[in-house]
Amino acid sequence: MNIECDVLIVGTGIAGLYTALNLREDLKIILVSKSKLTDTNTYLAQGGIATAKNVDDIPFFIEDTLRAGNYKNKIEAVNVLATESIDNINKLLQLGVEFDRSCGVLLYTKEGAHSTNRIVHHKDYTGKAVADSLINKIKKKKNINVFEETVLVDLIASDNKCIGGIFTKENKQINIFSKETVLATGGIGGLFKNSTNQRTLTGDGLAVAIKNGVRVKDLGYIQFHPTALYDNKDDRRFLISESLRGEGAILLNSKGERFVDELLPRDEVSAKIYDEIKKTNVPHVYLSVAHLNDSYVKNRFPKIYSECLKRGIDITKDYIPVAPAQHYFMGGIDVDLNSKTSMKNLYAVGEVACTGVHGDNRLASNSLLEGLVFSKRAAESINKEINSIEINIFNPKIIYDFEKAKRENINIIVEEIKKKRWDLKDELIYY
Ligand SMILES: Cc1cc2nc3c(=O)[nH]c(=O)nc-3n(C[C@H](O)[C@H](O)[C@H](O)COP(=O)(O)OP(=O)(O)OC[C@H]3O[C@@H](n4cnc5c(N)ncnc54)[C@H](O)[C@@H]3O)c2cc1C
Repeated sequence: MNIECDVLIVGTGIAGLYTALNLREDLKIILVSKSKLTDTNTYLAQGGIATAKNVDDIPFFIEDTLRAGNYKNKIEAVNVLATESIDNINKLLQLGVEFDRSCGVLLYTKEGAHSTNRIVHHKDYTGKAVADSLINKIKKKKNINVFEETVLVDLIASDNKCIGGIFTKENKQINIFSKETVLATGGIGGLFKNSTNQRTLTGDGLAVAIKNGVRVKDLGYIQFHPTALYDNKDDRRFLISESLRGEGAILLNSKGERFVDELLPRDEVSAKIYDEIKKTNVPHVYLSVAHLNDSYVKNRFPKIYSECLKRGIDITKDYIPVAPAQHYFMGGIDVDLNSKTSMKNLYAVGEVACTGVHGDNRLASNSLLEGLVFSKRAAESINKEINSIEINIFNPKIIYDFEKAKRENINIIVEEIKKKRWDLKDELIYY
């Protein structure tokens, strides 16, 4: 089957949805999700979205982002992120997102390595609150068509120019031709045995980029979150948000002793936990909020409270067993400040892209913000240039074995990660 549109967006997380909402309404847009619309990492996000609180906070936000990223960040991208944060949070408010407030004033929480409270949130399920509002808006747009359960397996490209993607749905091939294509396919957590990510996210956008010679960057920069719930029965590791530590949670070893400053950057806290695990031979440490007010904990962290309770842990009284787990991918498809890749008419936004903003260690709650800032820029760039784009449609290759094609894509990423991070080889799932 062949379909044509102006803009093809692959991915329905914050980056894909927000790109679509910032595009011109006269453009025919197709939004694609590998599984259900809400099976995204965005939907799982708990802690919140970082933002400069005001113009005076911008230089401090920049410095915190650089320090967490071990100064390996791209400074121009960090400047853009911090400077454009306020406008994008205002735009989310206009789109109907409700962040927590006290007496009408936005509440800001704190997380590791932030020098001040600057994270807007909706209780402990910010991602769901944001995604639900964006999806509501998308559903009202007549120019946007959503395809679920439709899997990208390759790009349609020639002479370093992208004209769409090859997809599979119910074992049939669908070719979607587009003037502009945006990859918003998220991270790589589905490739790891222990990850907080949706298991379906296996770096597919990155794989098709590599296959087609699109430039990629920093593939060894993989973040392990210090506090995923330690429960052997979980297929996906349930995250215990960093905002608990921001609100006063403490980390304890198996002897009940504190061993680290809980608000250090993620890489440093994870390293200290691994040391403790090695020293004590116990496969986890503990996080505790038992000293905080019970009703405050239940009201501020309702999702974490109920998920832990399901597993027999009452976080208002009990210690929570936690250990690090793969969480975020700082590397990805190399993009410029307008999210353009090295291939013509191909953009990448969100976790699949590498804007360079995070260096080698993302500052807490900067991911959703990156998804907003750089997908708005992608949309603005597309709005300007699309009228001048003409495409020559040709019939792409026919794929006979889709399962094989999907496995090949996964193997491309696994092999690339092994090349950069041999130390993680035992963490990877082999297909
Ligand atoms: C548990 C958890 C908590 C988090 N908490 C926070 C937080 O508080 N603050 C913060 O800033 N960040 C947080 N993060 C990180 C953040 O949620 C993600 O980095 C961000 O949501 C990524 O958004 P995205 O739009 O790039 O991708 P996603 O939201 O992951 O969406 C990816 C999309 O791509 C689609 N896709 C993938 N492959 C294909 C394919 N082959 N064909 C078609 N479609 C495909 C998927 O179906 C999906 O629709 C958290 C992450 C996790 C896992």
